[in-house]
Parts: sequence; C-alpha cells; structure tokens
Amino acid sequence: MYWLSFAEYCRERFGRRLYRAALDAHMTCPNRDGRISYGGCLFCSGSGSGEFAVSYNGQKLTRDDLLYNRQEVPDGDFIAYFQAYTNTYDSPDRLFRLFDSALADPLFAGISIATRPDCIPEEVMQVLITLKERYPGKFIWIELGLQTVHERTTRMIRRGYPLEVYDGCVKRLHENGFEVITHMIIGLPGETKEDILATAAHLNSVRTEGVKMHLLYYTDDSDLGKLYMQAPDDFHVLTKEEYVDILTECIAVLDPDIVLHRMTGDGDGEHLLAPLWSKDKRSVLNAVRHMMKVKGYVQGCRANEYI
Ligand code: SF4
Repeated sequence: MYWLSFAEYCRERFGRRLYRAALDAHMTCPNRDGRISYGGCLFCSGSGSGEFAVSYNGQKLTRDDLLYNRQEVPDGDFIAYFQAYTNTYDSPDRLFRLFDSALADPLFAGISIATRPDCIPEEVMQVLITLKERYPGKFIWIELGLQTVHERTTRMIRRGYPLEVYDGCVKRLHENGFEVITHMIIGLPGETKEDILATAAHLNSVRTEGVKMHLLYYTDDSDLGKLYMQAPDDFHVLTKEEYVDILTECIAVLDPDIVLHRMTGDGDGEHLLAPLWSKDKRSVLNAVRHMMKVKGYVQGCRANEYI
C-alpha cells in the first residue's frame, strides 16, 4: 500500500466501501453573489464545481436519482456529498433542514459538506453540532477549498480569504469534533513543485484528516479557461509526467494517517480544454503507483523533511 486511499480507509473504518453521491442544494457563494466578488474563483466552472451533482432540496432520494448506475450498492453505503457552490452559505434553518433530511435518509452513511472556511459562522457551527449529537451513528465531514497556502497565488485565483481564516476554521472544527477534508490544486499558474509541497506540508501542520488533490483543469466555462483560450502559450499546462512527479512528492510529504480521498479528477469532458491526458484516469493512477514504486516511496516518507 503506497498511500492511504479512501477505499482502504473505508474498509478499515466502516468495513465496506462507501460511495459519494454529489448533490447540488442550490446554494450560491460569496465569491459569486457580490459579498466578496462576482467573478468567482478563477478556475471555478459556472456550476460551482458541481458538474455531476444531483439537485437536492431535502427530498427522499433513490438509487435511480444518484446517476451512478450503482444498483448493487446497498442502503447505507452512500455519502451525501453537498458539492456544488458553498454549502454552508444559507440560513441556519434551511441548512438544518437539508442536512437533517440527508442524515435521516437510510441511503446515506453520513454527509460531507463542501464549503469555504469563511462561511461557517457560529450559528451554522451550532447547526452542525446539533446534528452531530442527533445522529451519533452517522458522520459529518467538512470539506474546505484551500487550494494553496501562497498569498500571491490566492490573489491571482481570487480565492477571497487569507490563510489564517482556513487555519482558524480547521481549529474550530476540530474543537467541535468535526473531521476536515482539505482540497488543494496541483498546477496553479506560477507555482513551482516546492510551492506545492509547502501546501502539502501545511496540511500536516493543521492536521487535516483528509485531502483531495486536484489537477488544475482549464475548462471553457471558467474564467481561467477563457484566459487560456485567448493566449494558451501564456500558461504552463502540466504534462502527465510532471503531474505524476509532483503528486508522488506530495504523497511522500503528507503524514501517513491523512486519507487521500482523491488524487485525480474527472474534468468535465464537454468543457475540458486541457490537459486532455487527464481524461484517462486509470492510466494516471497506474502511473502514480508505478512512480511511487520507482522512487521507493510510501505516504509520509518525506514528511520529516518538511516540519
Ligand atoms: S470554487 Fe467554491 S468558493 Fe470559489 S467561486 Fe467556486 S463555489 Fe465559490
């Protein structure tokens, strides 16, 4: 085992594999509604990064609704993944109703809420705490879109909050007993391999429980993609070899108990401009496994170098 994969973690913790069911609860985002900005993060698609998400307003869902063609998955083996936009950016009453409905649904083992660290005010934290106590047999995970620790990149991608806000949010979530999954992006414009490894090392220092590592996609429905279409030569799109090299170094830096929920994504095929090699997810994963073997790496083997 070269890294602690989500599948492996599920087997250890739950004794079975769980499957995320991506939901779109029709939120918006302070980076889109004008509270911070109107344009959104530079890389974000028009659907708030929820391309494959199922519309959800608290209704009872069935397997047929989940678009996964996973008829063989039994009740209780799905995770309600609130994916599109910022899923704590609504009134506490609506959030309570939505999350309560999903947690009460026997289809779901728990819920995973994707949000921004500047969007969990105290009233929302209280909603989460109440629900955690109400459903002791289920879990509530919080997914935070950090992407990078570097302020210059943060400004360029228009993330809209400083690193301290992320650090403080992780601390508050931990104090209240919530596990955190942090999203980071590999390949952001201007970032070197060392910059990306510094982000991975920061995740060790805040003790995030899980990580989702994303390759930077250029899609025609994001502002980044539009800039790319105007001047593709101004951007360095990672090659598969570069991505695999950086990803394996990140895995070596991340503490061995951090769960790698995701290492390569499914860019929206219809909108994807580059890198096109990313469409072959299986080949990327095979290359990562092969490179870990060639380098003699396992997860965390270089963590001490980055303390
Ligand atoms: S990535 Fe998240 S925070 Fe950024 S614009 Fe999209 S929905 Fe908003």
